[in-house]
Amino acid sequence: MSWTRCRLGHRHWGPHGAAGLLLARDGTALLQLRATWAHRGGTWSVPGGAIERGESALRAALRETEEELGVAGAAVRTAGSRVADCGGGWTYETVLGVPADPGATLAVRDLAESAGHAWVPAAEVTDLPLHPAFRAAWADPDGVLRDFVAAS
Ligand SMILES: [Zn+2]
Repeated sequence: MSWTRCRLGHRHWGPHGAAGLLLARDGTALLQLRATWAHRGGTWSVPGGAIERGESALRAALRETEEELGVAGAAVRTAGSRVADCGGGWTYETVLGVPADPGATLAVRDLAESAGHAWVPAAEVTDLPLHPAFRAAWADPDGVLRDFVAAS
């Protein structure tokens, strides 16, 4: 995977865009602390990363979640997504999901690029040092991410 430049000249990680999974349960969101050596390390965000060639955003979000937090795609029921475009044609798609089995305990482990994780109540998300792109998506007036977690 590599850096790319969009039409506006921004540097973005992943020539095919990026995607992440916002997994929500009981009014909380599963957030991940990015390892210090990762891009924007030391900040909290959803698990995610660059989309591979020919891969859908949905598949990328689930693959990254399994790689980083050990949660298999089969354990997630997806419920739509939110696409953010930087304005220059590069997109980040936040896939919305809930545990496929609401009654089961979801085992979460810190694997690649993950230095920690937490189920964070919707009202406390902005108290964390968030990755700037996730902070912007969360705070967007459209309210998609906030409303999804609050209603879960
Ligand atoms: Zn851009």
